[in-house]
Amino acid sequence: ANQYTKPFNEISGVVTELQNALACAERVFALIEEKTETADSAKAPDTFAPSGDVKFDNVFFSYDKDKKLIEDLNLDIKKGQRVAIVGPTGAGKSTLINLLMRFYDVDRGDISIDGINLKDLKRRQLRDNFGMVLQETWLRSGTIKDNITLGRCGFTDEEIIEAAKASHAHSFIKRLPDGYDTVISENGGDLSQGQKQLLCITRVMLSIPPMLILDEATSSIDTSTEIRIQKAFNRMMNGRTSFIVAHRLSTIREADVILVMKNGRIIEQGSHKELLEQKGFYNELYNSQFA
Ligand code: ADP
Repeated sequence: ANQYTKPFNEISGVVTELQNALACAERVFALIEEKTETADSAKAPDTFAPSGDVKFDNVFFSYDKDKKLIEDLNLDIKKGQRVAIVGPTGAGKSTLINLLMRFYDVDRGDISIDGINLKDLKRRQLRDNFGMVLQETWLRSGTIKDNITLGRCGFTDEEIIEAAKASHAHSFIKRLPDGYDTVISENGGDLSQGQKQLLCITRVMLSIPPMLILDEATSSIDTSTEIRIQKAFNRMMNGRTSFIVAHRLSTIREADVILVMKNGRIIEQGSHKELLEQKGFYNELYNSQFA
């Protein structure tokens, strides 16, 4: 596999061009020559503008034939729902995202969006409909504005500012020496981790995809930025089907559906309240991590 086919869970370690694409899930995917992926379906519709119903039907998958992983996974998510994925390391959370984004294909079963099997879509059509914000942010050397638009044309300054206001990034941007025209280096220069993440959220806000994949930060960010990021996440998720690899209790509590994963299976599924009442693995996890 080349650097462009690195799956979701390998991304957090390295900064690659793919991360750029993922962090923004934009037409940057044009960069990805899917040389190592199988050919796209000839049946693909000309346009794909889903509302965001996501279904997994009897999905089986393993990276290695001798090591079973995802076994008979079923999921029925309605448009606009917030889905928090929790579970110990190695449970299969990232793998679920890998399958949804077709970084890997299922061995058996089907995944569909709005009733259309992912295999009958072009990968670009699929990925363009997801906005992604990962823990590891990716910036490029250039102005703040460039970093928000990523060279996508046709956005007015007003639209860019509106997106930045919606993602609570505007207030820090306007305090920079040259505002939106401030030049930053590839590693973001003096920007804090939280500010970098706000920029990545602004990118997604500009493109308004119907579905989101969010990987919550585990590292600490100063409280006021943290509050802004949470607000921005909430605004961004509003009305969009969202899959969140969740670490914060507030996110988990407010999710419509919590998927509790263990050993490649969804062992419990429901709201925070429902799952606590079951007094099962989630209840244990909750008590050991948060209570
Ligand atoms: P989580 O995100 O819940 O920590 P993952 O989905 O990353 O779990 O991993 C599930 C299992 O699959 C783990 O045992 C992990 O080692 C394995 N795994 C993950 N990615 C790969 C890969 N690219 N190739 C082979 N095995 C992998």
